Amino acid sequence: MPEPTPMIKQYLRIKAEYPDTLLFFRMGDFYEMFYQDAEIASKALQITLTSRKTTKQGEDVPLCGVPYHAVDTYLARLIKQGFRVAICEQVEDPKHATGIVKREVVRVVTPGTVLDTSVLEAKENNFIAAIISSAPDHQKKSDARAQIIGLAVLDLSTGEFSLGEFSGAQRFQKLLDELQRFEPKEILIPESHEQAATLAERRVMEAYNTACLTTFSDMAFQYRTAKKVLLDHFQVYSLAGFGCQDTPHGVSAAGALLQYIQTTQKTALPHIRKLSILRSENFMLIDYATQRNLELYKTIADHARSGSLLGLLDKTMTSMGGRMLQKWMRYPLVNVLEIHERLEAVEELKDDIILRGDLREQLRGIHDLERLITRLTLSAANARDLVALKLSLFRIPELRTLLKSARSPLITRLVQACDELQDVAQLISHAIEDEPPVTLRDGKLIRAGYNEELDELRTISREGKTWIASLERKERQRTKINSLKIKYNKVFGYFLEITRPNLHLVPDDYIIKQTLVNAVRYITPELKEYEEKVLGAEDKILELEYALFQEIRQAVAQEVDRVMRTAENIAILDVLAALAEVADHNRYVKPEVNANDCIEITEGRHPVIEQMKLGEPFIPNDTLLDCQENQFLIITGPNMAGKSTYIRQVALITLMAQLGSFVPAKKAMIGVVDRIFTRIGASDNLSRGESTFMVEMNETANILNNATRKSLLILDEIGRGTSTFDGMSIAWAVAEYICQQETIGARTLFATHYHELTELASMLSGVKNYNVAVREWQDQVIFLRKIVEGGADQSYGIHVAKLAGLPLAVIQRAQEILQELEQTKLHEHGAFTPRTDAKFDLPPSKKPARRIRSRLSSQLSLFGEPPIHPVIEILQALDVNALTPLEALNLLHKFQQDV
Ligand code: ADP
Repeated sequence: MPEPTPMIKQYLRIKAEYPDTLLFFRMGDFYEMFYQDAEIASKALQITLTSRKTTKQGEDVPLCGVPYHAVDTYLARLIKQGFRVAICEQVEDPKHATGIVKREVVRVVTPGTVLDTSVLEAKENNFIAAIISSAPDHQKKSDARAQIIGLAVLDLSTGEFSLGEFSGAQRFQKLLDELQRFEPKEILIPESHEQAATLAERRVMEAYNTACLTTFSDMAFQYRTAKKVLLDHFQVYSLAGFGCQDTPHGVSAAGALLQYIQTTQKTALPHIRKLSILRSENFMLIDYATQRNLELYKTIADHARSGSLLGLLDKTMTSMGGRMLQKWMRYPLVNVLEIHERLEAVEELKDDIILRGDLREQLRGIHDLERLITRLTLSAANARDLVALKLSLFRIPELRTLLKSARSPLITRLVQACDELQDVAQLISHAIEDEPPVTLRDGKLIRAGYNEELDELRTISREGKTWIASLERKERQRTKINSLKIKYNKVFGYFLEITRPNLHLVPDDYIIKQTLVNAVRYITPELKEYEEKVLGAEDKILELEYALFQEIRQAVAQEVDRVMRTAENIAILDVLAALAEVADHNRYVKPEVNANDCIEITEGRHPVIEQMKLGEPFIPNDTLLDCQENQFLIITGPNMAGKSTYIRQVALITLMAQLGSFVPAKKAMIGVVDRIFTRIGASDNLSRGESTFMVEMNETANILNNATRKSLLILDEIGRGTSTFDGMSIAWAVAEYICQQETIGARTLFATHYHELTELASMLSGVKNYNVAVREWQDQVIFLRKIVEGGADQSYGIHVAKLAGLPLAVIQRAQEILQELEQTKLHEHGAFTPRTDAKFDLPPSKKPARRIRSRLSSQLSLFGEPPIHPVIEILQALDVNALTPLEALNLLHKFQQDV
């Protein structure tokens, strides 16, 4: 093994301490990467991979580097790709180093701990989570506590920090739901969990595979260690003040998380001021499937914010407001009084257009106070950040004056609680220049008049410069050399430059400093004397400015608590004004929210789809849902009629009302729901590449196990992922189970194209049939988009197939087959006996499905035998409703070839 150079030895030693990161190794003006790091980074950043001799024998190792001044952009690109980067700096001045310059890792940047504004999305939180499924110190299977999962979540950029625990059979599902609310960019687990993860844990990890998974020492997750880390950080004797005394698993996760942040940031974290408990029971629960199905934060198709409910509602003016709105959407309320309070505030701002306009104008000028103060406390802020803070704070008095006469209790409270922080703004205003540079070591930060010593130094420097400038004129007169110039460079300082043709005029007291091709440079003792004054003063100025800046930054950082509280109040005001703006703009009404069981919507609309309808009107529809007569609404109608749109619109309106928003309707009465569950047709999820039927059944199981009487269930095409009769039987059984008051009894909207299910209405109380009206006109189907009472009498699948362009011959044949099939209605033959008295303590019987199948085989004989033409066989088995136009065309093409 050849002996590496001392520098490479140092590199390898440091790299060994950070094996799972890319090590940015500072060398002069570059951060260099070696070996495998260089290969990975050069690919990820698309920069050139070179090599360098690193052993005395001259062995080459791969190398790539990025210039230090552009490090932020490269860092951002790596972090976005999920890498972790350790920044290793030279920690002594190379001029004073004996041998190799000392280097140390100063911080580790990971997707969950990044603070860089170029990586962070302004209106999104950047969470990191820690999970422990059983604390390593009580891992015994018999220990009941081992059955609990602890979770902690932190946004380092804002200081939001909370913990929670999940127990019981559904704990992994609950954990998954919670993770989906926060969408952490990085998840921390104990080292030992990586190998020992249980099946359920793996499922959670896999389902949540977008985050970067980081392992951290088991020790840090131990309850005692973790608790100590938290107590030390918050400087308290007990965690009772945070309500965390009875959540040891949550504490384990939170302590480990904090310790991880401390080790990666290598600094105190004074902006993390409190730890709160995740209290899901005080909020409406929205599970992961529902967040996705209702496209709350992003669209299913292209994961874009625009086209989601959040995209629609987010008219906030500040980043803090944007994040707060997302939080409100993650946690809609269930407490009627709290909802009223929000609605009342939105109403006031909606009605007073002028006030709202002025308020939003003030908000527009407010920067991200939370992230600014965080960077300040972590000493990562520059002077421009301070100016941004000042400008924001100067807006607050005006904002409070505007809202002084507001009537709504919530606004009044927020305004009163808003600390104007003018002392902080004044401090910055007096001290910091209006347009300071980004750099901190090049001066021009501190205003004249703030510090006497600084002012004196500046006078000396200025006068010296003026004297030097006047010297040029004086010397030109004395020497008669008109082209004489006084110049400055870093190596020689100030000098007099004389061009060659004039050298004979140079006076004797000039001292030669440097000879160039066309000119000679001189100095004089007098010039050097002033130069010393100027440069000495300038050095001191830079030092003093930096010291003063740090002092001010420190002083402002002390106010972190006040700034954070004000930031929160402003964020809420911003959300209220945004909701008012949306309500006004889109003609929403104030919903009447109560604790009853009834959801009654008059002329409701789908908030997102109505925006997408260009020119074409959106047809409003009514809804009446309660826990008695109108508990279970079956919506039938052909594909494309508008079933999904309708049932989703009810869920969205309910959710909007409970988060405090006005709703797209003429009138709405919403009896609060504790959870919204959705199960949306398998075909919508095909792109996810999972076994769609399995996913569908998983989601259905989750609903049946967790829904309560207070829940709202949105079920679209249950059972579609399997064969028609299997699917229909499952749909039937699920419907029966939900309808029973003793099992669930939840308010449910059930869209299906199995119109056989409309029979349920005559068998179970609380079931109502609706259908989306369509008209046939000259053999065409016209969608009226109107929900009317009663079941659809046919599925219109064939008409849709015709619209899609299937050849006439196929359509006609399909019509014939349909008629034949309809001659024997399922229930007339008693082939399918619904269980109106079903008891669900036993697994549902499979009998109905089998009987349906046998009937199918008897029906096949209708088409004459032997033999049945294969095309007919295929057509018979075809679920036309589930067919896309492209599939239909392909099928036709195949038929053509086969015949
Ligand atoms: P289904 O679930 O019955 O197959 P969808 O709900 O997907 O039908 O609706 C099909 C299309 O019809 C949607 O893309 C939407 O643009 C339009 N649509 C649905 N409901 C309405 C409505 N009430 N007013 C206007 N257009 C609607």
